[in-house]
Amino acid sequence: MGIKNKQNKIIEYIQNKCHSRNIEILLYPGVSIPYPYPNGSMFVSGFFSPEEQLLAVAKKGKDSFETLMHEFCHFIQWEEQCKDWTNCSIEEYDAEMLIDLWMRYIIELNKKQLNKYIDLVRNVEMDCEKRVIKFAIDWDYPLDIGKYVQKANSYLYFYTVVKKCRKWSNKGCAPYTFNEIVSEMPTHFANDYNRMSDVLVSLYKKECLGE
Ligand SMILES: [Zn+2]
Repeated sequence: MGIKNKQNKIIEYIQNKCHSRNIEILLYPGVSIPYPYPNGSMFVSGFFSPEEQLLAVAKKGKDSFETLMHEFCHFIQWEEQCKDWTNCSIEEYDAEMLIDLWMRYIIELNKKQLNKYIDLVRNVEMDCEKRVIKFAIDWDYPLDIGKYVQKANSYLYFYTVVKKCRKWSNKGCAPYTFNEIVSEMPTHFANDYNRMSDVLVSLYKKECLGE
């Protein structure tokens, strides 16, 4: 089976699974999508929102098929109500939303809260990435796993930069789009994403934050 056929089969499977839970799939015609929470000022490659009943992927984004598998694995986490997913709920908020509000100086978080929320988001993302790898293997999809883990790590480390700089990446400047960053990443998941060299932090600041 060619790669296109395989992708189409996977898309069909994802659509059926999502539709069975009343989740619509949006293939957005751009390189990035405004994230709807709280008001669309943050740009992402894709998102899954059970509240909006939407799984969205920026169709023209780099590696958009991998993004689709990633967002689908968030759907699976939600469907299973796995621990890493439910842990992100902080009363009526979720950890990612609180970080977003903090980044935009709408709320303040103390060091303990910030560390906790970043860890929660990183845990749900890491669990999701491991599910993507398993999904690709189960479907016999030709994913370059070493390269995929490097790209996943570029995101997982980015949260440490977010914590330091109180900023999200500029539009179109997601960490995984920079080879200079990705090539510095380990090909296995790390134990401690808070440990980063100053050189690496500077590279993120330059590429993703434009500093
Ligand atoms: Zn994710």
